[in-house]
Amino acid sequence: MEETFYCPDCSSKLERIYGCGSDSYLCNTCRNLISRKRILTEKDMVKKVVELVAKKLNEKDI
Ligand SMILES: [Zn+2]
Repeated sequence: MEETFYCPDCSSKLERIYGCGSDSYLCNTCRNLISRKRILTEKDMVKKVVELVAKKLNEKDI
């Protein structure tokens, strides 16, 4: 099964572009190429969402 990657800026799904030797990832929303180092995996996305929810809950307590 192919992995899905997400944009670090807008969290959209990235389109994989096969180049010669190295793959690139394109965000259709930002219209930007995202380097492999910056792309988010599904795991990263879950982590990000959990962190956001935790942050919001903390804000409510204050
Ligand atoms: Zn994007």
